[in-house]
Amino acid sequence: MSTTRETLEFQAQTRELLQLMIHSLYSHREIFLRELISNASDANDKLRFLALSNPELLGKDSDLAIWIDADAARGTLTVRDNGIGMSREEAVSHLGTIAKSGTSEFFQRLTGDQQQDAQLIGQFGVGFYSAFIVSERVEVLTRRADAPDSAGVRWESSAEGQFSVETIERAERGTSVILHLKEDAKEFLDPFRLRALVRRYSDHIAFQVRMRKEGSATLEYEPVNQAQALWTRPRAELRDEEYRDLYRHIAHDGADPLAWSHNRVEGKREYTSLLYLPSRAPFDLWQREAARGLKLYVRRVFIMDNAEQFLPLYLRFVKGIVDSNDLPLNISRELLQQDREVEAMRGALTRRALELLARLAKEEADKYQQFWREFGRVLKEGLGEDAANRERLLPLLRFASTAGSSNDETVGLADYVARLRPGQERIYYLIGESLDAARESPQLELLRQKGIEVLLLADRIDEWVMGQVSEFEGKRFKDVARGELELAGLADQADRARIEAERKESKALLKRFKDALGQRVLEVRVSERLRESPALLVRGEGDLSAQMRRVLATAGQSVPVSQPVLELNVTHPLVRYLESVSEPEAFGELARLLYDEASLLDEGQIANPSDFSRRLNQLLVRLIGPAAPPPPAAAS
Ligand code: ADP
Repeated sequence: MSTTRETLEFQAQTRELLQLMIHSLYSHREIFLRELISNASDANDKLRFLALSNPELLGKDSDLAIWIDADAARGTLTVRDNGIGMSREEAVSHLGTIAKSGTSEFFQRLTGDQQQDAQLIGQFGVGFYSAFIVSERVEVLTRRADAPDSAGVRWESSAEGQFSVETIERAERGTSVILHLKEDAKEFLDPFRLRALVRRYSDHIAFQVRMRKEGSATLEYEPVNQAQALWTRPRAELRDEEYRDLYRHIAHDGADPLAWSHNRVEGKREYTSLLYLPSRAPFDLWQREAARGLKLYVRRVFIMDNAEQFLPLYLRFVKGIVDSNDLPLNISRELLQQDREVEAMRGALTRRALELLARLAKEEADKYQQFWREFGRVLKEGLGEDAANRERLLPLLRFASTAGSSNDETVGLADYVARLRPGQERIYYLIGESLDAARESPQLELLRQKGIEVLLLADRIDEWVMGQVSEFEGKRFKDVARGELELAGLADQADRARIEAERKESKALLKRFKDALGQRVLEVRVSERLRESPALLVRGEGDLSAQMRRVLATAGQSVPVSQPVLELNVTHPLVRYLESVSEPEAFGELARLLYDEASLLDEGQIANPSDFSRRLNQLLVRLIGPAAPPPPAAAS
């Protein structure tokens, strides 16, 4: 690569992000300092890690720290580290593009509303570019720890779409970010203000952040922060604000976490963990390849980001750190996967995370509700993935319910069980195309009449999830759209007598229906469920639902044939009318019409919509009767 100076264009998205940030984060502009200190700390961490296997990298300069200098005369503020540094290529790619996953989703979600977008940017993690909120020009001088003095790099930009890079001589290892402050940002040169900010943003950082001693004529520096990894300090000594600051540093999330759990384990196995629950889902929650996992330290030394082995996939939203006293410093990702120690820690950390959730659910229902909205669908995966913790997971589930008036009001299984009707032996649920569709479904008619609560579900994975669980506190789950309702103690004498009588009286009618529908249905029977609608389809206990069949079909999988049962409300006027139709063809047409209507309810679609509409029109014409005006001649 050439050593000469070249000018390059920012990637289009970087340019857009820069403009957005400069304009919408203006009211919190001091966050740039947090971001730059955070990057400097990461750079020192990376070098310390590499130096474990290659101590020469540190050389004589083994005192890793961060320095902050304000130069009032030049109007500059400099943040310097003696960490890993960057090569010329790295400076171009790291400071010229945004490599984060989810970038395109981020841009899609921008609204143009400054306040909302500022939040989004915060969530996206503003990083290095936040320097431009307060600077008219930013210079970066850097040299990689493993490169000679002659391979230093100077990167510079005034955020107008371009940046320049050139190779320079640089004696110091690591990176200096020099901010040429805007006229109206000179407040950040005030030592008093600066110290307060630095302390606020760096107390949790494990490296000393140093500033010039006030009033000293010499170039003497003193530490401004505690420089002790926060998680190594006793819980009682830590303020919530400190926990939140550390969260922002490790999670790159501008929003506060919902809750956290900080624990030290002693004895045979020694480690400290600090787990956080974010308050909102990241953009890439559903991308399988998205980075997840904890930050791993071994005896206070940073080892790696995104160590996935410490938590199961269904807890991928948990952020945090784990600092082990026992693992070897040279542990690699591959070794983590096989390590028995890690396996045991994973079990314990999983329980910790679930306990944290249980505590939040119990003590701060509103926050838990927010958690559920953001991450509930992920947590549900655990019922299949982690059978050993099913008992811990079940009480954490939340459902829309017929007991609530809106879909946002959710209930837990414990609430449901506490409200069981006398004689009720089942936890009833219904999975629909949408929560509204489930709430309105005819499957619920009898249960609604009897005031029996039904849990409503509509997520793609719900059928699979419910297939994994069988009971809660001794009460079995029962899908109301399958098989018998299993009312047991809920059905009274009158109900039973009614059904019995209807069955007896309708034998012939049921047979005519079955003959008319043939293989479309397994059976036609008198419905216990229906009180208002004429007909519906019911699946067998082991059959796949319409929803699941569609998911499989979309995924190109073969879908097993299954015949639903058609249930009739034999007291419904339409069904009564059918009984009086003796002409087989007319009966067949009407039976098909009812069947199609029931499939529409069941699947949200019918096999042959034009057939359905022809039949419906025929029926309507018959209803209108001879009084109807003649159709126009050309109509079909
Ligand atoms: P993030 O830190 O979230 O990755 P940034 O925009 O803050 O995003 O930084 C982009 C990249 O630039 C970093 O990932 C890192 O590789 C590099 N970088 C930034 N600051 C430094 C620094 N002080 N020393 C070394 N590399 C740095």
